[in-house]
Amino acid sequence: MKNISILGSTGSIGTQAVEIIRDHPDRFRAVALAAGRNIDRLEEQIRLLSPRLVAVSDEQAARQLRHRCSGIAGLDILTGEEGLQAVAIHPEADVVLSAIVGAAGLGATLSALQTGKVLGLANKESLVAAGALMMKTARQHGATILPVDSEHSAIYQCMQGRNAEEVRRIILTASGGALRGFPIEDLAEVSPDIALNHPNWSMGPKITIDSATLMNKGLEVIEAKWLFDLPPSKISVVIHPQSIVHSLVEFTDGTLLAQLSRPDMKAPIGFALAHPVRLENMVEPLDLLGMGALVFERPSRRRYPCLDLAFEAIKGGGTLPAAMNAANEVAVDAYLKRQISFIQIAEVSREIMNRHTPRPGDTLAEVLDALAEAGRSAQEYIGKLSD
Ligand code: NAD
Ligand code: MG
Repeated sequence: MKNISILGSTGSIGTQAVEIIRDHPDRFRAVALAAGRNIDRLEEQIRLLSPRLVAVSDEQAARQLRHRCSGIAGLDILTGEEGLQAVAIHPEADVVLSAIVGAAGLGATLSALQTGKVLGLANKESLVAAGALMMKTARQHGATILPVDSEHSAIYQCMQGRNAEEVRRIILTASGGALRGFPIEDLAEVSPDIALNHPNWSMGPKITIDSATLMNKGLEVIEAKWLFDLPPSKISVVIHPQSIVHSLVEFTDGTLLAQLSRPDMKAPIGFALAHPVRLENMVEPLDLLGMGALVFERPSRRRYPCLDLAFEAIKGGGTLPAAMNAANEVAVDAYLKRQISFIQIAEVSREIMNRHTPRPGDTLAEVLDALAEAGRSAQEYIGKLSD
């Protein structure tokens, strides 16, 4: 029996993890759940899984939830960063699933690593913002990071039993997002409801917009650099509209290994939760005869300027990826609120990266500082853009 804590249990990844735990009561038990403000869903999850500890983002949500769950014995409900931390370091947890969206998940994810347990990592923004610090913390405390992002899970699976010297490069696949076939000249006008309509994956709003700008792949390049200790020259990106090949590893002998499945996040989430065991029937097997052709294309740098930004962020190093990430979070939020246009998302990130003076970023204080400063700077720039 494995005890699981989930940071971000009410989101797209969190909800699917809850379903996997529900469907495998002989294998998993949820001990602690943390979420933002969706107390309706959280209450359902509490009644379904009987965790001992729950954290919500603010006191008002906590009061309502305490009232609704007053009949449930032995349940603690905490709030804010303190609540997130308590879920992250719950003494009974064997695996912590980090599935909060954005750098808001950083502090709790780091704390989970300090317990030296297994971290299932979906929250890629924490690794983008504080990769050096997170990898050092994992090493120091003997923690294992199992990627939940489908591409990184694929690479992790292809690398099993191999060593890093045998890898010539890895190839991350990208669907190209909701606007892959959209005329480039019309991107300035595209509304959030169109950009949110992802062809293959159903995900939270932030990552869905990141998929349309390809910033998601940029963040994943940085994520891969840290997880697999690879220089950017050994990380390539191809557009693969079918989202069936989840990523590939090219070895020194010229051969490639790939991992394939229908696009369904249950597969990588289940892989991380159950590792080293494989669960039964996480995803409907591929129908090779019926699936049609698999296509691979070079990403257009004109259509997807965010991909170049991510490589520049790696090159600049230190806190530059944190600044890029913070600017992107603010820009995506502003786009969803219709304050800026789709193409201005990349423009905001570029401008904030240009303004940023990188610092080493090997302490949490320095990373949080860079995130806050870049976030403020992005808000201010967006204010001017939308005047
Ligand atoms: P989502 O928006 O659906 O869910 C986010 C979760 O985080 C919710 O439970 C929300 O309540 C919680 N949350 C947000 N801010 C919080 C805060 N300040 N304090 C506490 N909780 C907070 O997002 P998602 O699509 O599930 O993505 C989660 C993470 O997983 C992201 O980093 C994303 O890039 C990554 N990821 C997601 C998918 C996917 O299929 N959705 C695939 C690969 C990677
Ligand atoms: Mg991914």
